[in-house]
Amino acid sequence: MKKDFTGIVGVVLVGVILFAFSGAAYSFIRGVKAPVSVVRTSAEKKSPAPSGLLVIDPGHGGEDGGAVGADGTKESDIDLAIAEDIDALCLLFGVPSVMTRKTDESLADRFPEDEAGGRKARDLRARLLIAEDADASLLLSVHANKFPDAGVHGIHVFYSPNGEGSRAAAGIAQEMLNENLQPGNRKEAKKANSSIYLLNRAKTPAILTECGFLSNEEELAALKTPEYRASVACVLFAAAAEYLNSKG
Ligand SMILES: [Zn+2]
Repeated sequence: MKKDFTGIVGVVLVGVILFAFSGAAYSFIRGVKAPVSVVRTSAEKKSPAPSGLLVIDPGHGGEDGGAVGADGTKESDIDLAIAEDIDALCLLFGVPSVMTRKTDESLADRFPEDEAGGRKARDLRARLLIAEDADASLLLSVHANKFPDAGVHGIHVFYSPNGEGSRAAAGIAQEMLNENLQPGNRKEAKKANSSIYLLNRAKTPAILTECGFLSNEEELAALKTPEYRASVACVLFAAAAEYLNSKG
């Protein structure tokens, strides 16, 4: 299993470099133009795809923009862009995936208005239902953060207290994110408290990544670039692939 993972991560990390430095490779992930020779070479060397289904959940959407940066950057847009890149990698590497939303929308309307709870509650329940209906091997929720102190920064991964494997998956993701994107980041994966609805109610293994602070100038600037978002997506995909491989 470790061997499988190493192969996939090797390819994906090459991808990180390509995405960070090559406009052509970046175009591929967006489905605009495929630099076929580059991608095929990588794909031919990859290990068998891990088994299991990844549910990718871009946070917020519609009337709920989530955290908003000083320049008006909406978290919901950043979350969706990273999630789209993860989904593209799933397609590339043959990992079955489902996205909870693909546009700037709230999922609240999937439940009748007279059901208990406001729009936010209904939106979150809809996401949970998608993960459960899909029988997700891993639910990966993608978010970005905001804090009054602009100096606070760093990617942080949270895990469900329920789903078996959640802690392991979060540990892998945090370690890989720190190592590959933020060498100075000493954060460790953290168990979600009751305020994180999705993780608290998920029956499937579930993690949530706060991909950076929109209140921090440097992280906001980075998250606004497609290259950095693709790098975050590559590492999250690699972490999910390692977790899925470890489950056989
Ligand atoms: Zn959020």
